[in-house]
Amino acid sequence: MKDYYRGIGMTSDRTRDRLIKRIKEQGVQNTVVLDAIRGIPRHIFVDEALASRAYEDTALPIGYSQTISQPYIVARMTELLIGNSKLPFKKVLEIGTGSGYQAAILSQITTWVYSIERINVLQQQAKQKFKALGIKNIVTQHSDGSLGWEYKSPFDAIMVTAAPNALPKMLLDQLKVGGRMVIPVGLGGSQALMLIVKTSTGFEKQVLDRVSFVPLLEDCM
Ligand code: SAH
Repeated sequence: MKDYYRGIGMTSDRTRDRLIKRIKEQGVQNTVVLDAIRGIPRHIFVDEALASRAYEDTALPIGYSQTISQPYIVARMTELLIGNSKLPFKKVLEIGTGSGYQAAILSQITTWVYSIERINVLQQQAKQKFKALGIKNIVTQHSDGSLGWEYKSPFDAIMVTAAPNALPKMLLDQLKVGGRMVIPVGLGGSQALMLIVKTSTGFEKQVLDRVSFVPLLEDCM
């Protein structure tokens, strides 16, 4: 790996360990998740001008009015997605590739990540990052993620990183029985973070936290 990927100064191991400590203090316990956050260099997924802030526990702009999620939220959502499931998952669907950071974290817990993004430029940039890091198990698609990826379904888990007003039915349909979906739902700047588990008779739904995500929009660009 080139030095830039390994990180120096503000992107060094020590800086990353501080972030892990903070995420743990906020209640994330799953060591698989913490190891994934430690192992994937977040500074690669932001603009070089912001690299020195990559290990602060904060969302950062990635262009096109979009953001890379706060590391704690990535950790929390990944932990909820896993629950008590046996890892690795076979197939995880992510809606909203964005910077690619969450997809890279997911790549550590599943055989295949399928990730959909509506903004082509962001998707192309994310693909370059995966390549640079040698991550080979993320497959991407440029389309409206609310329709899911039926051809590859059913999924063990679905992670939605942009907020719809209501649960997208097509995504629910593409979950396996026993499969889990983590999704922010609601209008405006603040949404309910929901965990949905598909059972043989229907869906178990829980509201967990208040979160703030960009809206899930249908049109592609
Ligand atoms: N998971 C990302 C978070 C990016 S923000 C990361 O780790 O960086 C949410 C992303 O969802 C944005 O890139 C936005 O363009 C995308 N998005 C919004 N609506 C979408 C839709 N209907 N289908 C696919 N992607 C969508």
